[in-house]
Amino acid sequence: MDHLGVYVQVPFCASKCSFCNFSSRVARRDVYDGYCRVLCEEIECLPELYQSAGVDSGLYRLPADTLYFGGGTPSLLGAARLGRVLDSLRRRIAFISEIEFTLEMTPGSAGAEFLRQARGSGVTRLSIGAQSFADPELRSVGRLHSSDDTRQLIADARALGFRNISLDLVAGLPHQTAASWQATLLSAIALRPEHVSVYLFEIDEKSRLGGEVLRHGTRYHAQFVPDDDFMAEAYETARERLQKEGYLQYEISNFALPGFESEHNLKYWQLKPYIGLGAGAHSFDGQCRWENESAVEVYQSSLACNASPICAVRQLSVSEQVEEFFFLGLRQRAGIKLATARRRWGRQLLGPWTQKVESLERDGWLERINQNVRLADRALLVSNEIFQQFIAA
Ligand code: SF4
Repeated sequence: MDHLGVYVQVPFCASKCSFCNFSSRVARRDVYDGYCRVLCEEIECLPELYQSAGVDSGLYRLPADTLYFGGGTPSLLGAARLGRVLDSLRRRIAFISEIEFTLEMTPGSAGAEFLRQARGSGVTRLSIGAQSFADPELRSVGRLHSSDDTRQLIADARALGFRNISLDLVAGLPHQTAASWQATLLSAIALRPEHVSVYLFEIDEKSRLGGEVLRHGTRYHAQFVPDDDFMAEAYETARERLQKEGYLQYEISNFALPGFESEHNLKYWQLKPYIGLGAGAHSFDGQCRWENESAVEVYQSSLACNASPICAVRQLSVSEQVEEFFFLGLRQRAGIKLATARRRWGRQLLGPWTQKVESLERDGWLERINQNVRLADRALLVSNEIFQQFIAA
């Protein structure tokens, strides 16, 4: 039987980083209260809300083995609000006894007392947005913390018994150089986190910095953003260094010491069921995807009138299910098993996709490892282009 993943979206941050393309915003503390109140209502009324949105899903009845508070900066909520949301969750969803419970944190967003309470509430894993260990880079993108704050947070977490810590790093920040990126990697590794995520700064209109780079402007230190060649090299350097230090790359952006892969995030790539709660959160039951209103006010006002905050429901066609199997599954370094797809959809239906696999294999973009098909190393940096080929293959 499948276990459920539960994701809770907290769309607030203490400041807005210039490179961020997530939907999060700075808000007063009283806004957190209103948001958490409504979030609890969503959790408690989930069966009725699903019914009124036409989502025919008993997903919330599955036992859950992962819980993930992401955002935004969920640690800003403080222990009392977090506790109220958890109470609602535990009333609605049957969690197994040993869950992976991740809380995203930004260094400096909460102190040791909050960490102690979070641990007492059952948090088992901290995902910390370190981004860089070079203070000028952190300052240039508007982070409120320093590299010492990151070190202090990890020291506090270790002292309190946290044994599963993940660090996020970003390659391609303004002023970053090959030397400062090496130093960031070494500083991260010296702290021996169990998990490291390496992201490449995405230059697009969704972030202030990305938009400024596209316009060739100079705000947000945009003229100091390194070029594409630097990004490619930074990614390779990270892969080499982390793997040398015992971190296994298990997904395009994710590395873990053995046994510390993110169970929750694996569900996304393995098409396992999950429920998303909060503004903009997404859910999936294996065949149907749905999402909540992303604007906090709209999300809150829907629930205030006892209406569903779900704004889009999409039943996946068989072709879409196969496409997702390929482009999500291939994100994993373990790759995918074609035999699994054949068992599920039949050899004949799968024909166009298996031909695509064979042609990408001939061209050196995919490779076979044991019985699995996976991206070749040279395809990692152009993965989106490869995935595109599995859509309507
Ligand atoms: S703290 Fe994280 S979510 Fe918030 S603005 Fe910065 S990068 Fe985005």
